[in-house]
Amino acid sequence: MNRVYLKTFGCRTNIYDSQIMAQNLKDFILVESEEEADIVVVNSCTVTNSADSSARSYISGLQKKGKRVIFAGCGAMSKGESLFQEEKVFGVFGHSEKRNINTLLKRENPFFEPGDLKSLDETIVEDFSSRAKAFIKIQEGCDFNCSYCIIPSVRGRARSQDETKILEQVAKLAGNGYGEFVLTGTNIGSYGKDTGSSIARLLQRMSMIRGVRRIRLGSLEPVQIDDAFMELLDEPWLEKHLHIALQHTSEEMLVKMRRRNALRRDLELFEKIAAKGFALGTDYIVGHPGESEAIWEEALANFRRFPVTHLHAFTYSRREGTHAATLKASVNGKVAKARLKILEEIVAENNLRFRKVHNRVLDVLVEERKGAFQIGYDQYYNRVHISSPLDLEKEWVQIDSAEVREEGNFATLAQ
Ligand code: SF4
Repeated sequence: MNRVYLKTFGCRTNIYDSQIMAQNLKDFILVESEEEADIVVVNSCTVTNSADSSARSYISGLQKKGKRVIFAGCGAMSKGESLFQEEKVFGVFGHSEKRNINTLLKRENPFFEPGDLKSLDETIVEDFSSRAKAFIKIQEGCDFNCSYCIIPSVRGRARSQDETKILEQVAKLAGNGYGEFVLTGTNIGSYGKDTGSSIARLLQRMSMIRGVRRIRLGSLEPVQIDDAFMELLDEPWLEKHLHIALQHTSEEMLVKMRRRNALRRDLELFEKIAAKGFALGTDYIVGHPGESEAIWEEALANFRRFPVTHLHAFTYSRREGTHAATLKASVNGKVAKARLKILEEIVAENNLRFRKVHNRVLDVLVEERKGAFQIGYDQYYNRVHISSPLDLEKEWVQIDSAEVREEGNFATLAQ
């Protein structure tokens, strides 16, 4: 029994966690699908009730196929015990136990090892062979307490990875040819609060490493963007795109959602950063309890004033164990979907306009081939589809000017 398939659900942090697991699996063969595997490790997500159900139904499918199922990831804390007791899974291990995966998977008897919520991954992931860019996890956990979010209880409080370790890891990866680095974590803007460092300081030190060409950041919280960070906006190594999580644009809703950001400050911040030529992404939740028609209308009018070019929006989904789950659901699902669609349309228009204006010297890191195109992202985090007889995968190319279409940017490279 030595073929293992790692099934990853959820966010970027989970993709990274799966890399850590893979790196620690010394005595097993990693396979590409559940069919080929004897053991399936489910790196689960528990962010909504429906994320829990998808993991559950995936596990039932595996059980029917006679696979040995090991349950890990965020769900290990919230659902691990019940799945284990119901004998739906052979073993459970929590985030802190990832480094022990090799030993755990050799166990002959069922095991339940939820671990703790205090430790940080020590594993340095050196090879992201299937990707052109490297993801670096710089911290774990979150000290915020947003009404709808279960993450702080399944990933624990915010704690930062040692700066020297991160820099070592970046230097190794840069030495292996990686030029683009994506900093990830649960709440990366809180980096360094516990260790006397800061995200701005870390970025600056990273940028000095030979080979580091572009640094991209995961999601930041508006309140975490300080003067030191703002001073980095002109640096050539910083991606000209930031993702700053608003979650809403009604002052009243921000309070109901127990957010720390505030509308007027958010708008000023977005305008300031956009004026520096940045594309701006955001997260947004529509349909949280309390989002009445009047509140929504006002939020929408506010949203139109934000220079948002990329959107990661969801309709509210109830999560047991959160404050919002105790509130009366007040927005019907269809209404929430319609609201979401409006936001998406606004941002699609903003994005198109942005791409037309910022269409000079696009620095593209080509990531993959899809059909007739080789696809990558430019410095504004816009997709560029390139037609070329050359093999450009994992290469940096410069596009003087792209053909800007609604569905994306297109370019041809003859040589
Ligand atoms: S900032 Fe809010 S939404 Fe993000 S992980 Fe923390 S509690 Fe959850």
